[in-house]
Amino acid sequence: MSETSDISFRAKLAASKRIVVKLGSAVLAPGGTLDESTIAQLAADMACACADRELIIVSSGAVASGFRVMGLETMPKSIVQKQAAAAVGQPRLMRAWSDAFAAHGRPVAQVLLTADDLDHRTRLLNARRTLQELLNAGAVPIINENDSVSFDEIKLGDNDRLSALVASLVQADLLLILSGIQGLYAGGDPKKVLHLIPDIAEAMSHVRVGKSDVGTGGMQTKLDAVSIAHAAGSHVVIAGGKSKQIVQRVLASEIVGTLFPAGKATSSRKRWIGHAARVRGAIIIDDGASRALMERGASLLPSGVIAVEGSFESGGTIEVRTRDGTAIARGIAAYSDDEIQRIKGKRSNQIEKTLGYCYAEEIIHRDDLVLTVKRT
Ligand code: GLU
Repeated sequence: MSETSDISFRAKLAASKRIVVKLGSAVLAPGGTLDESTIAQLAADMACACADRELIIVSSGAVASGFRVMGLETMPKSIVQKQAAAAVGQPRLMRAWSDAFAAHGRPVAQVLLTADDLDHRTRLLNARRTLQELLNAGAVPIINENDSVSFDEIKLGDNDRLSALVASLVQADLLLILSGIQGLYAGGDPKKVLHLIPDIAEAMSHVRVGKSDVGTGGMQTKLDAVSIAHAAGSHVVIAGGKSKQIVQRVLASEIVGTLFPAGKATSSRKRWIGHAARVRGAIIIDDGASRALMERGASLLPSGVIAVEGSFESGGTIEVRTRDGTAIARGIAAYSDDEIQRIKGKRSNQIEKTLGYCYAEEIIHRDDLVLTVKRT
């Protein structure tokens, strides 16, 4: 990608009005101790960069701020210890943010979310209203996962993903992920930061498996976050959280870190189906149905269904898989797993005879279906 196109993409960042900044534990609590001077510097940087902008922070660091107070010497591994450490650390983390922003006259607000909150569309819309109200009041919402009540199966897992879901929820212009790395490196070499990645698939080829020591997410989780934000029409920049005045520099369109330019935004409901809603089950479809979905954007009819897995009600979000197990789409099922079991392989005009009623001719209507792989 040429330098000119990098400059023209970067120029758009200065116009960002609504920013989500994600800060990882590797920046806020390196070595497992909350670094209050870094928090103060970041707050000064963000307050200056976002004086006339709306700012939302997604902050990790609860577990890292709490485990020593719990008498543990290293970051806990067991989920229950992490939950307890997060409960101890979260108020400490918030106090640090609150003090740091008070120096700049900005109140902060704690918002803790779970995967369950993002799974329920009404709760999600409530969260959006609350965030909007906070932004209207000039407050800085500081979001973290509600670790002490999330359990393994329904954990969001990492704040990279949470920050992207938040960016999508509020339709941020920019998601800035600040971490221990300076951006995406060409071939994994830290001396070669790639400054512009227009195509996420290309980015995957540069990913090396591995994680930073303190944070949860590696590069792969960051790229998953990029694709969620991408679908919401947000630009994403991944940059080093320790670099001086990094937020001001990114918003001044300086070429720093890696920029993933925004994609065309899809509807908020489809984004919710594709990323936030929890998958309750799966259906396996035949090759003809798979082609109809991928090539024609068609609805999924019972005739193409071979098998059904999991237990779900009508209205549940399910995954659609091909015979070889590849997940190709997600959608809202018009029928429960039991009902699909009875009508699978049949024509739509046999639904009423088989079940005694017919809610819909499709198992998943095209408006309720989101492809999770690129259309052919
Ligand atoms: N919620 C966790 C914490 O605040 C962090 C998760 C993450 O690092 O992604 O400690």
